[in-house]
Amino acid sequence: MKIFEEIESEVRSYARAFPRLFDKAQGELIYDEDGNEYIDFLAGAGSLNYGHNHPVFKEKLIDYIQRDGITQGLDLHTRAKGEFLESFNENILKPRNLDYIVMFTGPTGTNAVEAALKIARKKTGRENIISFTNGWHGQTLGALSVTGNSTHRGGAGIALHGSTRIPYDGYLGDDFDTTNLLDKMLSDSSSGVDKPAAVIVETVQGEGGINAASMTWLQSLSEICKRHDVLLIVDDIQAGCGRTGTFFSFEEAGIYPDIVTLSKSLSGYGLPFAVVLMKPEVDQWSPGEHNGTFRGNNHAFITAKAALDHFWKDDKFAKEVQRKGQYIADRVDAIVAKYGEGNFNSHGRGMFRGINCVSGDLAGQITRKCFQKGLIIETSGADDHVVKFLCPLTIRDENLKKGIDILEQAIKEVCAKADSIPEEKDFFEGDYSVSDEASKSDVIEPENKKAAS
Ligand SMILES: *Cc1c(COP(=O)(O)O)cnc(C)c1O
Repeated sequence: MKIFEEIESEVRSYARAFPRLFDKAQGELIYDEDGNEYIDFLAGAGSLNYGHNHPVFKEKLIDYIQRDGITQGLDLHTRAKGEFLESFNENILKPRNLDYIVMFTGPTGTNAVEAALKIARKKTGRENIISFTNGWHGQTLGALSVTGNSTHRGGAGIALHGSTRIPYDGYLGDDFDTTNLLDKMLSDSSSGVDKPAAVIVETVQGEGGINAASMTWLQSLSEICKRHDVLLIVDDIQAGCGRTGTFFSFEEAGIYPDIVTLSKSLSGYGLPFAVVLMKPEVDQWSPGEHNGTFRGNNHAFITAKAALDHFWKDDKFAKEVQRKGQYIADRVDAIVAKYGEGNFNSHGRGMFRGINCVSGDLAGQITRKCFQKGLIIETSGADDHVVKFLCPLTIRDENLKKGIDILEQAIKEVCAKADSIPEEKDFFEGDYSVSDEASKSDVIEPENKKAAS
């Protein structure tokens, strides 16, 4: 179709990496207009943890639409919203002993982040926010100010204030605990770091290259926040909703953040929906102080409740995610050992895993090769150098295996052609090779393209 080149903005991005016309999808499979089938390891950038069009949620949604259930409700009390809150309280908060107030924000993750930053500043009367290298929190101004990536921050076009960046776990090597640096800087009135309102952190950095913080690092961070009377915000927009093997990504660390943001897979169906969770004493909003027209996407409330009722009444689903996560980790480790010449490495947690190919060019060649073979998989990280696993948590074992088989074959073919795999540079050398964005838009014909019937 020519219409996209004709009038759609140049801002489009995923469409360039996967230049086909997509039409239908079910579970972990997505189909283009010619009926070519692809295994979806991108899954709406983590917004489709339960796959496309889950039949149970779909039926609930169709019933609700059929009976003229309210679609848009602003922040009015509706039955759908009440029932979502009940399910969230019973299935998620109470079993985890989490005493949180639920705030409905505008329906995108970045709006939840804005709200989280605003309430942290209001509650403490301080401006500064501690954020981390390679952190990624969304595209509006406040969220950009705590994001690491210079291309995205540059898009703001104005100075971004109010944040101090600290190295994330592992940024200065495995032996350097960067929370000690934070502790020292917060303890020293001449460190140059203003006493912050909050620290905002992802437990596993999604867009930043699937960097997983260790449990001890998270625990230490939480301790330091408490000690310095600073609020801890966990941005669980991508790592939450089961991705790491528990509903919240911070459960394993046993920490209790003051504020949590959720979005992406919260609706379960890919419908826009975001919330901020906060401890009751943080809830210092005046009525209407963070307003927004689309805070009442009742269709999302219906499917979100369906997802919680279906998957989160007990720990069966979490165990399944952990089992598949282990399978992914084992397969990926084997692939890295076989083809990575000692330079690739893999990290992540649960079904949130990446292969660091060191070079963005190499990672891009691998994902393009995957696409030709019927697998949709993206890259992330500063130079798009990490091949990123985000397949639906509900993926069937045979398709998980098939997808990883395709990836392995692609890596084998690409690495056989590459002269040598670049070595990972030490942090002080910098200068990774930059991926060739333009080559992403090459027309890609799937190898499995069906004969026109
Ligand atoms: C995707 C993401 C956001 C932003 O969500 P949008 O819905 O794209 O605005 C914020 N934080 C994290 C960790 C994310 O992965």
